[in-house]
Amino acid sequence: MVDIEKIRTQFKILDTTVYDRPLVYFDNAATTQKPECVINVLADYYRTLNSNIHRGVHYLSSAATERYEETRTAVQQFVNASHQHEIVFTRGTTESINLVASSFGKLFLHKGDEVIISGMEHHSNIVPWQLACEQYGASLRVIPFSDQGVLDLEAYRALFSDRTRIVAVNHVSNTLGTVNPIKEIIQIAHSHGVPVLIDGAQAISHLAVDVQALDCDFYCFSGHKMYAPMGIGVLYGKEQWLDKMPPYQGGGEMIKDVTFERTTYNELPFKFEAGTPSVGDALALKTSIEFMQDLGVENIAAYETELLHYATEQLSAIDGLRIFGTAPHKTSVISFLIGTAHPYDTGTLLDKLGIAVRTGHHCTQPIMDRYGIPGTVRASFAVYNTKQEIDTLVTGIQRIAPMLA
Ligand code: PMP
Repeated sequence: MVDIEKIRTQFKILDTTVYDRPLVYFDNAATTQKPECVINVLADYYRTLNSNIHRGVHYLSSAATERYEETRTAVQQFVNASHQHEIVFTRGTTESINLVASSFGKLFLHKGDEVIISGMEHHSNIVPWQLACEQYGASLRVIPFSDQGVLDLEAYRALFSDRTRIVAVNHVSNTLGTVNPIKEIIQIAHSHGVPVLIDGAQAISHLAVDVQALDCDFYCFSGHKMYAPMGIGVLYGKEQWLDKMPPYQGGGEMIKDVTFERTTYNELPFKFEAGTPSVGDALALKTSIEFMQDLGVENIAAYETELLHYATEQLSAIDGLRIFGTAPHKTSVISFLIGTAHPYDTGTLLDKLGIAVRTGHHCTQPIMDRYGIPGTVRASFAVYNTKQEIDTLVTGIQRIAPMLA
C-alpha cells in the first residue's frame, strides 16, 4: 500500500496553481516531478561537495568520487546487474542508445546486415539505428503491431535472417503504454545468436527490472523519468559486449595512456564515460532509487495499475472518446482523441483547467501513421497522482467536449 498523502508532501510542485486552479500533472511519461529528498541531495552536492571526480587527491574530489561510485553500485543492485562496471552513466536513454548504435555498429554492422526494431519505438530508438545503417550499408526490419497495440511475435520470428545483427525494442511504449513481452523477444533473438537492446525509458519507474533474469544485452533508461534530475541516465551492457565495443566519445577519463602516436583506453565502465559527468545528478539518482525502493517498486506498480484501470473505465465512458493502445498488459499511459478534435486543441483547453497532458506524436510518428492520426492526447500517471485528479480530467473533458465539436 502507498500512503498517497505522505508521498504528495514530498512533491512541492504539486501545490502549484495554474490559472487559479490546482495543478493536475499528467505528463509523467515526459518527465516525472522530483521529491524534496532528491532536490535536497542535488542542492547539497553543490553546497557542500562540488568537485570534479576521479582525478583529484583532495578531500572534496575523493568524497564526490566515492558518492558517485556508490550511485553506480545502487544502480547495479536496482537492476540486478552482475557487475558494477556494466553500469555506464550517460545523459539519458537517447545517449545510451546512440552509444550502442554507434559503437556496436562500428564493430558489427556491415553492408547487407539487418537491425530489427519495432513499429512502436520512440524516435530515439529509430534514428540512431537509421544513422548506423546508413553509415554501414545495413537496413532496418520493423516488427508490426496490432490495432490494440500488441507486437506481432510471429512476424518478429519471420524477420530474422543470417544477416540480423541486433534487435532494439522498448520495454514499454511511451504512446500506447504496452508492456512488451521482452523476455520472449530476447529468447527468440538469442536462439538466433542475436543480442538485444531494451529501451527501458518508460519501464524503469513502473516495473521491477532484473537485467539478469531478462538476459538482455543492453538496457537503457533516463533518471528524469524516475524522479531523478534531468541530465543523468544509464546504459547497462553485458561485459562481453562492452569489452569488445570501441569508445563512443574521446576525451578525459576514458583513456589509459595518450601519446600523439597512440592512445590506449581505460577499463570499463570509464572507457565510455569521456569528460566531466553530471556528478550531482548521479548522486540524486541514487536518492530517487531509494525513494522508489522505500515505497516498493511492486507497490508503485500496483497503485499505478489501479489508477490506469480507473482512468480507462472513466474515459471509455465518455461519448466519442477513443483510446489508442488497449493491450492487455499496460503501464499507466492513456492516449486518446475526442471525436475529430485536434489533440492540440484538447490539450490547450485542458491546460486552461489546470490539467497538464501531452499532445502530439510523442516522438513516435510511425505509430501515428499506423493509426492514420495526427497525434493523440496523452495522460500518464505517476505514484503521486490520485483518482480525484482523474475525476478532474474526466469532468474537464466533459466540459470542453462541446467546444471541440
Ligand atoms: N524512449 C522512450 C520510450 C521514451 O519515452 C523516451 C522519452 N520520451 C526516450 C526513449 C528518450 O528519453 P530521453 O529523452 O530521456 O533521452
